[in-house]
Amino acid sequence: MGLGSLFKRNNEKKEEVIESHIDINTDDCDGCEKCTIACPNNVLIIVESVSSVRDPQVCKSCKVCMAICPNDCITVN
Ligand code: SF4
Ligand code: SF4
Repeated sequence: MGLGSLFKRNNEKKEEVIESHIDINTDDCDGCEKCTIACPNNVLIIVESVSSVRDPQVCKSCKVCMAICPNDCITVN
C-alpha cells in the first residue's frame, strides 16, 4: 500500500547547488598567489596556475582579494 511511496521518498536525494558569489577572470590571472595568501579565510587556491574558489561558503565577502589582485581578476558580489 503506502510502502512504495515511502520507499520512493526515502530515495529522493536533495542536491545542494552551491553558487559561488566570487568570479575570477582566469584569462587575466597570472597565478601570482596574492589573493590566496591575502584571503583570511582560505577561500582561494591556485589550480593549474590560476586562482580558483576552494570553498565559497567560508567567504566573508571582505573583498581583500579584489583589492590585492594586480590584474583586477576578482569580483566578489
Ligand atoms: S572576499 Fe575576503 S573572504 Fe572572500 S575570497 Fe576574498 S579575501 Fe577571501
Ligand atoms: S591576485 Fe589576481 S592575478 Fe594573482 S592569483 Fe589572484 S586572481 Fe590571479
